[in-house]
Amino acid sequence: MTKIIREYPNSFNLPKRIEGLSRLAHNLWWVWNIEAQRLFQYIDTQLWDNVNHNPISFMHHVDRTRVNLAINEPTYLEQYDRTIARFDQYMADQNTWFHQSYPDLLTRQIAYLSFEFGIHESIPVYAGGLGVLSGDHLKESSDLGLPLTAVGFIYNQGYFVQHLSEDGWQETRNALLDFSEMPVVELLDENRKPLQISVELPGRKVYARIWELEVGRIALYLLDSNVEGNSPADRQLTARLYSNDPEIRISQEILLGMGGVRALSLLGITPDIWHMNEGHSAFLTIERLRDLVKAGTPLNVAMEKVRAGNIFTTHTPVPAGNDQFPLWLLDKYFSQVWTELGMTRDQFIDLGRQAQPWGEMFVMPVLALHLSERANAVSELHGRVSRKMWNFLWPDKAERDVPIGYVTNGVHTKTWLARRMGLLFDAYLPTGWLNHIDELAYWEDIRSIPDDELWGVLRHLKNKLVSFANEQTRQAWLNGRITPAQAVAGGVFMEPYALTIGFARRFATYKRANLIFHDLDRLTRILTDTHMPVQIVFAGKAHPADEPGKLIIQEVYRAVKDSRSGGRLVFIEDYDMNIARYLVQGVDVWMNTPRRPNEASGTSGMKAALNGTLNFSVLDGWWREGYNGQNGWAIGSEREFANPDEQDAADAASIYDLLENQVIPLYYDRNPEKIPTGWLEMVKESMRTLIPQFSLCRMLKEYMTDYYVPAITENGGSK
Ligand SMILES: *Cc1c(COP(=O)(O)O)cnc(C)c1O
Repeated sequence: MTKIIREYPNSFNLPKRIEGLSRLAHNLWWVWNIEAQRLFQYIDTQLWDNVNHNPISFMHHVDRTRVNLAINEPTYLEQYDRTIARFDQYMADQNTWFHQSYPDLLTRQIAYLSFEFGIHESIPVYAGGLGVLSGDHLKESSDLGLPLTAVGFIYNQGYFVQHLSEDGWQETRNALLDFSEMPVVELLDENRKPLQISVELPGRKVYARIWELEVGRIALYLLDSNVEGNSPADRQLTARLYSNDPEIRISQEILLGMGGVRALSLLGITPDIWHMNEGHSAFLTIERLRDLVKAGTPLNVAMEKVRAGNIFTTHTPVPAGNDQFPLWLLDKYFSQVWTELGMTRDQFIDLGRQAQPWGEMFVMPVLALHLSERANAVSELHGRVSRKMWNFLWPDKAERDVPIGYVTNGVHTKTWLARRMGLLFDAYLPTGWLNHIDELAYWEDIRSIPDDELWGVLRHLKNKLVSFANEQTRQAWLNGRITPAQAVAGGVFMEPYALTIGFARRFATYKRANLIFHDLDRLTRILTDTHMPVQIVFAGKAHPADEPGKLIIQEVYRAVKDSRSGGRLVFIEDYDMNIARYLVQGVDVWMNTPRRPNEASGTSGMKAALNGTLNFSVLDGWWREGYNGQNGWAIGSEREFANPDEQDAADAASIYDLLENQVIPLYYDRNPEKIPTGWLEMVKESMRTLIPQFSLCRMLKEYMTDYYVPAITENGGSK
């Protein structure tokens, strides 16, 4: 096996007493351990914000005198010692949940591949929910001690930075990431040359180097084609997420799927099972077939072996939304491969073939489904939709027997929980609650949190959101980037006493960000009521090629800037994980209005629930399972209309009725101490029921028992 060298760029010349900060900075454990973040933040709060909460960048820029001030403070050093000890203990722990539950499987390996990973805002290689889910999956795998290794891409232009023009048109900018300012390390061979893999693309080989990201105990390997030896175009192959050019897309997916298998093999990792998060990585099935066939395994036996170890998670309930390629591209990119496999063109194309209204296509989820023994959707309703959608692949099975199950998504509790809320949990939940997040019994004591303390934390978190919006806008104003109307839109009139609703997500049309504007007069009356005002904060990006999505942003922005809303509508630009944290922690109500059943799961509402924010959503995706009649509100009914306009009208009417008759009166109904006791009762019911059920901990344990363990056990002979 190749010897691997990891050269951490430098040790930041830290004073010896706190040199462990370098160790902390290079492992993303700090992302979900706030006390570790505070070791940096404490030294220079302003700089910490300016470097986007990136410890590496922070250490490069921090003023030495400030570091010296900190090491003269006993409380700082105490905090430092405690945190480093906890980190070292965490990394060395040989008694994790996995160790205890599966002592027989300690030598097994799970590979997890995804097109995007959202771990922290300072590593912008994610676009939205899919990436955040992948990132959360790694963090929880680390916490539970799973033997999992992940592969993805490091996009050197990241996802775009969003700015809205005065007229609400989304403008995009791609910043070039500087990897030396990021917590990644390039893997080198024994000659200190970059460790590289290659894949064959038409007429050439394309090389990629490998960056490693330590996510607690989990290694994430990120491929990067920006290396010497590649043509200028190939060096750009991994520059950006979600290209619209099908040739770039298929090349990226060959690199992720086939290159991913080669990268793990080069690193000496031999996975027992392979988990494809969405279809983007499904070419890994082909690479694994090739390996087996090359080693002399007959094709049909190889197929069965490959299938046995593969798990596929689908996230897309809309047929057109599935990743797919025209057949001529397969001819161009795979004719050599099917020859090597001893397959005819037709046999190969059959692996991914789907007739579409626009012609026959090679569809990545079809490939993944054909070559995975196990597959799942991401909520119960999405499971139903998926079995129907893919029934044609099992023509002799009834819809309910289509072998696609579901594991409802969850969120990584410690990543999304506000520090102050965590302190309340420490005070009122049974000790060790963090090791029992998925156990309902541990959450019963939420009821015992005194109303005034809970209210105090909620008000504190809303204040933080308001100051954040104010401050962002002040900076934009100072820099001459915005007009007065845009300053209003950015939130200068936001205040912490009004009932605040959040709506933040990708601006895909089915999410209907503009639904609330269906009856503008009625909405205006609601917002500007003198006694019971309401403010709504929007955030979100549209894919750069999604013109209808950008038009919805514009429609929302025009309403936000309109003086009739009195500054009670706000749009925060450049939605990312940082802004997501402020919003899910700071608002009172989290609104979600997808057109049923297009929201496969959704996760932002789960992050909101964690922090005492109430869900106000269509009964789609996860909320259909989470809603119990007392822990939030359901917009509309459990039905789908044939006519989308009728559906929009009905759902909009439901939004206004609920706001006027239930949400707003409940929020403003105060006891003599000015505390909304009825509201807080609902908050407690929401936290008690939703936090354990929609945790990544519950989700990962389900993957373990229903997918990973059966696959490992059945696939026992493949090593
Ligand atoms: C959680 C999160 C999402 C997912 O939101 P949903 O609309 O609920 O799927 C998207 N983007 C960011 C930045 C997030 O943090």
